[in-house]
Amino acid sequence: AQRVLYIITPTHKRITQRVDLMRLQQTLTLASLQYHHSLIYWIILEDAPTCSHAVRNIAQESGLYFAHKAVHSSDNNNKKKKKKTPHRGLAQRNAGLETVLQVGKEGVIYFADDDNGYDSRLFAELLFTRHTSIFAVGLSGGAAYERCHVDPTTGKVDAILSTWKPKYNVGKRTRKFPMDMAGFALSTTALVTTKARFRPQSTAGMLETDFLSLLVADVAELEPLAANCTRILAWHVKTTEPQWAHNPELDGDGTKTFA
Ligand code: UDP
Repeated sequence: AQRVLYIITPTHKRITQRVDLMRLQQTLTLASLQYHHSLIYWIILEDAPTCSHAVRNIAQESGLYFAHKAVHSSDNNNKKKKKKTPHRGLAQRNAGLETVLQVGKEGVIYFADDDNGYDSRLFAELLFTRHTSIFAVGLSGGAAYERCHVDPTTGKVDAILSTWKPKYNVGKRTRKFPMDMAGFALSTTALVTTKARFRPQSTAGMLETDFLSLLVADVAELEPLAANCTRILAWHVKTTEPQWAHNPELDGDGTKTFA
């Protein structure tokens, strides 16, 4: 049977939201055209009290199967709380996992933040995921890339090459899987059997490790994709709020058409 590729995307209102989502939408649409054997199911979790028309339109225009839900993290503007729970998009990703279970079709799950960059060929690779897969991520962890290392004799992952706190200890805990959110995928079977969810209690830098620890016991169990983790098909990109220059053309209500 055809496997479903679930793409879980948390999104929230910021100046770049429209262009970020549009870019992701067009990447996903291209991937679904290139790999028509795969069925992309885009799950958009909007961090807002209600679903917005702007986001709904982008989802609808994609022509993809999609779910669009509002999951509001009410502490967004609370700076003190933000420090305590530094993981953005966490409640949204967990809600995305519940949506996958509600849809109920077998397939692969990938967490695609709205502002990252993806090569459309990544999405064909993801469909090789049997349980939990791993692959390289560009511009990640303060380096050109983070990737796993594969033992050429066994074909198994024997290390994750990461420069950002690869042996980071939080209390007595180690970043066992020093990976970016964009660098792994899991099957729906793995989700159902392990019941893995993101932990709101995870400390900074431990979110991926805590989640992956629920899926596999050791790096050797991770299935390396994209030419044994040597090909970069996903990039961690972080959009920042643009610094506006004063633009007299747009004074007023901002609706003036630039001629
Ligand atoms: N996000 C969210 N609510 C927030 C902040 C971020 O839903 O208050 C989403 C955001 O749109 C993105 C993901 O969570 O899809 C990761 O956020 P961001 O890109 O800011 O974090 P990064 O991991 O790049 O530092």
